[in-house]
Amino acid sequence: MSIEVQNLTKIYGDQRALDQVSFSIGAAEIVGFLGPNGAGKSTTMKILSGHIAETSGSASILGMDVSKETLEVKKRIGYLPELNPLYGDMYVKEYLSFIADIHKIKDGKKAISRVIQSTGLERECRKKINQLSKGYKQRVGIAQALINDPDVLILDEPTSGLDPNQMKEIRSLILSLGKNKTILLSSHIMQEVEAMCSRVIILNKGKIIADDTLEAIKKNWDVNTTHTHVKFRDPINEFELSSIDGIQSINSVDEQTFVITSKGHVDVADLLFNFALSSNTIIVEQKEQEKSLESIFQKLTNHA
Ligand code: ADP
Repeated sequence: MSIEVQNLTKIYGDQRALDQVSFSIGAAEIVGFLGPNGAGKSTTMKILSGHIAETSGSASILGMDVSKETLEVKKRIGYLPELNPLYGDMYVKEYLSFIADIHKIKDGKKAISRVIQSTGLERECRKKINQLSKGYKQRVGIAQALINDPDVLILDEPTSGLDPNQMKEIRSLILSLGKNKTILLSSHIMQEVEAMCSRVIILNKGKIIADDTLEAIKKNWDVNTTHTHVKFRDPINEFELSSIDGIQSINSVDEQTFVITSKGHVDVADLLFNFALSSNTIIVEQKEQEKSLESIFQKLTNHA
């Protein structure tokens, strides 16, 4: 396992920020760590990157216990903290060279040109950090996390504060890095996680409330109603359609076209097929609107 967390608990003073959190992540997975503010995402990431100690439980990276083999772990991971602390007065290359020195990297020059290339910083790398746009500053943050060519990347809110174009650029950068690295990235933006991750761990008030593939979360969490857009060949008796057992409500677009609202797991396709059959018509168009992770997330976190 690239990342293994068992019964991780962190208590700050009298506040339980993490409560018996367990999960594991295999090689070359991009996993989204999702949760509202204060859920415990940063705390988990700080523990995983060896920056703070857990109260109880354990965290290991590439088989090494983070609290016991902290230095070894730090050599094998890259970490982008939430606030991405950079030295604004330093030139990009100067900063990266400083980070390479901290890591005691032998061929620093080679490492710097590798990360400049992989994060698309070529054109900006001769500037001072505080002359860069927010998106490029974030690239510098990711570049410093990559300087030791880590197998595991921990990115805390990597796109926060970026404009939509910058977000898109950083997302595609992360996707390309995820081809051969394990990435755990936190976010409170659902679309972001949907765009990058195949698996999601949802944290709320220090506890894991879901850990699954996106598809399974959408399928299993029956927290949403389904909206189905359907068009029949012939005009339909609206009353009969709305009286079908399992259909919650209908909105007519025209005499043949409707948006059907049904509860969670109801097999709308089957109901509509039988209805069309008994009404001597056929369905010419049918489309189920996708459940959004956003609404699932809201329901899950409110619920918990
Ligand atoms: P997230 O990253 O999901 O927003 P955090 O891990 O930052 O959540 O915080 C989890 C909880 O722990 C919050 O209630 C936060 O106020 C608390 N917390 C985080 N850091 C500290 C700290 N250094 N001292 C006291 N409480 C903290």
